[in-house]
Amino acid sequence: LAEDSSFWTDHNVQVLIRIRPLSNIERASQGHGGCLKQESAKTLVWHGHPETRFTFDHIACETISQEKLFEVAGLPMVENCLSGYNSCMFAYGQTGSGKTYTMMGRGEQVEEQLKYSCKCSFLEIYNEQITDLLEPSSTNLQLREDLKKGVYVENLTEYNVRDVNDVVKLLLQGASNRKMAATHMNSESSRSHSVFTCIIESRWEKDSMTHFRFARLNLVDLAGSERQKSSGAEGDRLKEAANINKSLSTLGLVIMSLVDLAHGKHRHVPYRDSRLTFLLQDSLGGNSKTTIIANVSPSICSANETLSTLKFAQRAK
Ligand code: ADP
Ligand code: MG
Repeated sequence: LAEDSSFWTDHNVQVLIRIRPLSNIERASQGHGGCLKQESAKTLVWHGHPETRFTFDHIACETISQEKLFEVAGLPMVENCLSGYNSCMFAYGQTGSGKTYTMMGRGEQVEEQLKYSCKCSFLEIYNEQITDLLEPSSTNLQLREDLKKGVYVENLTEYNVRDVNDVVKLLLQGASNRKMAATHMNSESSRSHSVFTCIIESRWEKDSMTHFRFARLNLVDLAGSERQKSSGAEGDRLKEAANINKSLSTLGLVIMSLVDLAHGKHRHVPYRDSRLTFLLQDSLGGNSKTTIIANVSPSICSANETLSTLKFAQRAK
């Protein structure tokens, strides 16, 4: 990870590649060398046919710890929210590439005391249906739009949190509900998106009046990006595959349109084409900052999925 570069370079969308370490099984099965090699702080070579070289703003190799990644990519998002701007961080990549590890880590990483008041919610989008992960009996929640509130999920629970322990408790509770819900629906969490949102309220006094400001920090653990097969699938499975492919490609289109807009090209941004992008509409674009962490495995076995993730990440730049 380049230490010197400031995280937000020329525009509000940043793409970071994170390569996870080989698992023991992958290591045993392939000997030396994987499908990826980092050449310099910003260039990455995909060893395949044809060999392909990619350049990104940030590359986090196998040895980068959660703490370091948080410092480089997470902290600027938090600071951005404390200044009153919405922020979104996405973990993108095939199943098993390290998205959930990147978002949740193994334990508690955040130690800063919160100085502002903060509320959290945690939801899942599966098959274009929204479930409250902190109140799992609340399924099929509806998205609403309101002039004052913007886009919001009706009846989604929001918990006040006082400190980091409260936040971690909610994260763990929601993650375990996500697993249970997946089992119940005979699915896997790899086929749903989860969105953990911190709503940060800043308050200050001026001219003997109290002023408020709200900003949202959205942490999004996406469904696996591997192409969902529709061949042979029928009924619910077919619909599910179509929905996952649709919502990830809509996300890609929204981000590409925003990048084009930032470069002065006029583009229609298709927020409404999926629940995920509609929900995040107020946090994508405008003054909001977006980080995409594209997670990849260096294993030969994943070479083709890795290539398509790198291409997705390249397009988002
Ligand atoms: P995904 O959410 O993309 O399906 P996971 O986050 O579950 O993938 O990661 C798959 C496996 O790889 C898990 O066992 C996880 O602990 C491990 N893993 C992923 N990234 C890292 C990392 N940076 N360092 C160590 N282990 C990792
Ligand atoms: Mg996962």
